[in-house]
Amino acid sequence: MAVRYKTVLLFGAPGAGKGTQGELLGNIPGFYHLSTGDMFRALDRESELGRTFVSYSEKGELVPDELTIKLWQQYTNEQIESGKFDPDTQLLVLDGLPRTTDQAKLIDPLLDVLGVIHLFAMNKEAMVARLRQRALQQKRTDDAKEEVIRTRLEIYERDTRPVLDMYDASMVHEIDAMGTMAMVLMHVLDVVAPIHANSVVPAGV
Ligand code: AMP
Repeated sequence: MAVRYKTVLLFGAPGAGKGTQGELLGNIPGFYHLSTGDMFRALDRESELGRTFVSYSEKGELVPDELTIKLWQQYTNEQIESGKFDPDTQLLVLDGLPRTTDQAKLIDPLLDVLGVIHLFAMNKEAMVARLRQRALQQKRTDDAKEEVIRTRLEIYERDTRPVLDMYDASMVHEIDAMGTMAMVLMHVLDVVAPIHANSVVPAGV
């Protein structure tokens, strides 16, 4: 059987801070952060795949499931082959996948999900404001338009949120996303550091 990557899923609506927390974790030895949004944005915009991605993302829509999983598998293999990701010694921090229940079923045989971090925000408008600010800072065209942001949030509620129910409740950790970056990180580490210590770290290290 193919190896199943020991994984923590970063879950939450657009603007909840998955990318920020994922990047912070990815700087800690023993963690490997993989964002499917970053994976898609790294595609050559002139290539067929790149154009397909933009045709969905500019409307705030999700790329079709089969294509997303195929590309993710290819990309993950490349990261392993180039030595950037070592599944034996690193915990995979997966940000932005799965985003539909079908994606969750398709990747299930490849992942050993040890925990799910659900970054939630009671105040939806604060998340919209974050998205607008990020669009300006990172020149992200998808979040520059109010209409696209609303679509992204609607799709999250309709297609992505139900994915949370597929995982055992004892595995899902609710974390308030609206604190400072450091406070959110502290809560995330509270969950993730023990998972890391008990999974990929050899005994005695
Ligand atoms: P993100 O940076 O995670 O907000 O993703 C930006 C865009 O990439 C999304 O609006 C989708 O168009 C696409 N995308 C990222 N992850 C996925 C996924 N798991 N399934 C389908 N589309 C995705």
